[in-house]
Amino acid sequence: MANIGLYIELKDGVFKKSNRELLSLARKSGQNVHAVVFCSDLQPVLPELRGIQTVIQVRGTDLAYQPDRYAQTMADIIAEFKLTVFCGIFSAQGKDLFPRLAAKAKASLVNDCLAVDLVARKATKPVYSGKLQAEFQVEDERALFTIRPNVIAVEEAVSNAQPEIKAFQLTAVPERTRITQVLKSSAKKIDLTEAEAIVSGGRAMKNKENFVVLEELAACLKAGVGASRAAVDAEYASADMQVGQTGKVVNPKLYIACGISGAIQHFVGMKTSKIIVAINKDPEAPIFKKADYGIVGDLFVIAPLLKDELKKLL
Ligand SMILES: Cc1cc2nc3c(=O)[nH]c(=O)nc-3n(C[C@H](O)[C@H](O)[C@H](O)COP(=O)(O)OP(=O)(O)OC[C@H]3O[C@@H](n4cnc5c(N)ncnc54)[C@H](O)[C@@H]3O)c2cc1C
Repeated sequence: MANIGLYIELKDGVFKKSNRELLSLARKSGQNVHAVVFCSDLQPVLPELRGIQTVIQVRGTDLAYQPDRYAQTMADIIAEFKLTVFCGIFSAQGKDLFPRLAAKAKASLVNDCLAVDLVARKATKPVYSGKLQAEFQVEDERALFTIRPNVIAVEEAVSNAQPEIKAFQLTAVPERTRITQVLKSSAKKIDLTEAEAIVSGGRAMKNKENFVVLEELAACLKAGVGASRAAVDAEYASADMQVGQTGKVVNPKLYIACGISGAIQHFVGMKTSKIIVAINKDPEAPIFKKADYGIVGDLFVIAPLLKDELKKLL
């Protein structure tokens, strides 16, 4: 039986929703599953970790995320617990951490997977800016995968069995890279990479203030608000809202693109959304070829109408 490891990512000490996808995938594999958590108090996280075999709690005086010490500690855990497959979320932290871990653990890494077979060590991932999907087979002794949020169906643990808890000391290493400051956006925003619904605006928004139209629509759907690069470049929206090749890759159940033309660089960031709705006043806009539902019209008319109808329904 293979020993599978999962990196359980915490954000400000709170369990990230996307970890549930990793846990569902690992539980379903029927293998020996080890979850690695860097935290001093496991209690708030433990209910999420039912039905797996082992929790490795990394302890230390300062457990804040620093790439070198996290990567080295995880490489040491992989060696000590003989983990042959190790997975994490394809998040900002996952993108930073896993390539370092691959080098330290002498493992092969497949990033941004849409599907993974943990037993066969096969993964499917988008290539060429999402124009194709390729299948990767890892032949190396150790395989690492990062998995795009929102692609794996979450299933509750069948067993209520509590895992065995093992403590592991954070490895002290000379830090070649050190995070000195994390700048958070001032407003409390929904994390687009984990959002179930997103309403995005493009250049057509014309200014920052007009985004309130999308915020109101988003509020009805408990959705996040995104933007195209044109809107970000014009300073109508902040950089953390950008969806696309050089922005965030999102995967919600519902993506509503308002006044966005549908350039390939935007599309690759949201194409795996389950349902795409486009609102655009140009019936020839490329976004309509990619959308499941298209509304031809002025977004400043349509978005408030949609909001009013949704308010009645929901
Ligand atoms: C290397 C590279 C990386 C890039 N990365 C990204 C990226 O990560 N994300 C990204 O988004 N782009 C990215 N781009 C830019 C991308 O090519 C497009 O320029 C950009 O996506 C266009 O944004 P837009 O659709 O908002 O603007 P436009 O292309 O100008 O489209 C505006 C649309 O709004 C419609 N419209 C106007 N007024 C209204 C109205 N009142 N109601 C309804 N519809 C209206 C118009 O018909 C038009 O279709 C990248 C480009 C390059 C070269």
